Amino acid sequence: MSAQASDSNFIAFNISSQDKFQKNQNLQSLSEVSPIGKIWDKHRANTDKVLYYYAKADEHYFRQYAWRMKICSELLKFQLLPDESEGILKLKLSDARFCRVRHCPVCQWRRSLMWKARAYKILPQVVTDYPNYRWLFVTLTVKNCQIKELRENLDSINKAFKRFTELKVWPAKGWVKSIEVTKGRDGVSAHPHLHILAMVPPSYFSYGYLSHAKWVALWEQCLRIDYQPVVHTSAMSGDKPLRVYAKHHNPSLLIPEILKYQVKESDLVGDREWFLELTRQLHKSRAIAVGGILRQYMRELDEKNQDLIDESEETDEVDGESLYFRWERQLQRFNIE
Ligand SMILES: [Zn+2]
Repeated sequence: MSAQASDSNFIAFNISSQDKFQKNQNLQSLSEVSPIGKIWDKHRANTDKVLYYYAKADEHYFRQYAWRMKICSELLKFQLLPDESEGILKLKLSDARFCRVRHCPVCQWRRSLMWKARAYKILPQVVTDYPNYRWLFVTLTVKNCQIKELRENLDSINKAFKRFTELKVWPAKGWVKSIEVTKGRDGVSAHPHLHILAMVPPSYFSYGYLSHAKWVALWEQCLRIDYQPVVHTSAMSGDKPLRVYAKHHNPSLLIPEILKYQVKESDLVGDREWFLELTRQLHKSRAIAVGGILRQYMRELDEKNQDLIDESEETDEVDGESLYFRWERQLQRFNIE
């Protein structure tokens, strides 16, 4: 039994036609049919939590989010596709209605899957076109800020990053920038940071190479924060303001890092006030941006296409049975309809 992200909108996963799925078997829930069921249950349960946060908010648009989220992915239609070679049935999502609210846990999960699937599809062409280029993964951070100051902080981080890319010493010819916001360890502050996937020419390691100390110095310079002592924190590397994470010939290895969630799902639930303020602060901000020569390849990852789940949910015309699963709010699981 396996789960995999296909290059389309669907997660294909396999169920054994002999022992796992038979029509007359007494299977009731999606999680009994496939391991993907548990994942659906988890995200959908978190969607319920988040929608309750929105439902009781003062802002009218928050209450609209709640309404949309309530009917998000309530009913999932899966097509059963025979896979004769392995004697199994593939269960493929063929229809579902998504709310597309930015911080909906289900939709955030789906969006991340789509982005990754597309990036995996696009990057091999970049590697073919630039076979000798190397790939760096860099995390640029600043000190934590109050959640109410998040937007302001993100503005200055983005400006600083732009300055960085305009410096002569900026080594990357192309890059993907993603913004992540985590909750500070104190439970009230926000920790915004940038993840950068950067492609550098093969000459970088002999000419124009930036040491770790140099990266740090340049980032500080671009942030224009030399007027005060700087406290950098990073969940990943103690108190270092930046880390050069890895260098690879194969950028695909870094895709899960660069295209993970903008806000961890665990940070979406648990603190209503923090979450509502996060929504206000991130409203209409960019999560992912692509620069340099990668732009032409990765346009689809850019903001205007953030809503990848908007794509047609149609599957190929295949005769076959379908199964429906409905979200049971009380039971917190998808059951066979
Ligand atoms: Zn949703």
